[in-house]
Amino acid sequence: MRGIPKIPIVLVIAGNDPSGGAGICADIQAISALDCHPAPVITVLTVQDTCNAYRVEPLDPNGIVEQANAVLQDMPVAAIKLGLLGNAEIGMAVSSILEKHRGIPVIIDPVLIATGGASLAESDLVEVYLEHLLQHATVLTPNEFEITQLGYPETGRTAQATILLNRGCEFVLAKGGDDPTPDITNLLIGPGTQVEEFTWPRLPGSFHGSGCTLSSALAAYVARGEDVAAAARLAQAYTSRAIQHGWQPGKGQHIPNRMHSE
Ligand code: PLP
Repeated sequence: MRGIPKIPIVLVIAGNDPSGGAGICADIQAISALDCHPAPVITVLTVQDTCNAYRVEPLDPNGIVEQANAVLQDMPVAAIKLGLLGNAEIGMAVSSILEKHRGIPVIIDPVLIATGGASLAESDLVEVYLEHLLQHATVLTPNEFEITQLGYPETGRTAQATILLNRGCEFVLAKGGDDPTPDITNLLIGPGTQVEEFTWPRLPGSFHGSGCTLSSALAAYVARGEDVAAAARLAQAYTSRAIQHGWQPGKGQHIPNRMHSE
């Protein structure tokens, strides 16, 4: 009889988007498509469709800690991915989980707004990222809006990322793409502020859930044993393929096809 294959486990702590375009459904799809096992802990429920988000309903922070502890005590978690946390109380609860598991790589997508522009997080969560969560981040994956909020008062992604590295995170994958340029440039900024630049052609259409897809793919590749630079390259290539095969499930934005196999 063949042995049971070792499937890397990714603990995902994130919010639910009932359209399945972003949030924990996107995370589960990307992590599964990359041959890892997702262990999902839900932080907030949202009311949203592919056009925008309308309401955020945070869950009990103690319940979130209990869910994560149940997984961490039972399974050898290879990486942790944080998505939408929603408010400062949940941010603090999640930092208490990370505090007790310092050896596990942590990929943090500091979600603050929905692709449609709606706010998804209370403003006091920014302080919790800076003071309590960044010190645990192996990689932080902010978009331009998020890095501007977190890296204030600096301007420019490299200077803003330097503030975040000084707060204790190991790498920042600063996503571009907010301005309508033909190409999208993402920057990986790491120890000693070394910079690796990745340029991707902008694909037509407005996409919901591409940030979740990228950060979860990154967590999956890190869980599989890739170093951060390789994981960042592979995760961007996977996300770009998922966007190329994207589709429009509702009346609004397109979503990446994370289950597409090539
Ligand atoms: N997490 C949840 C629950 C969301 O609803 C959203 C966006 O609407 C996100 C994360 C971030 O989505 P994106 O990957 O489009 O940045």
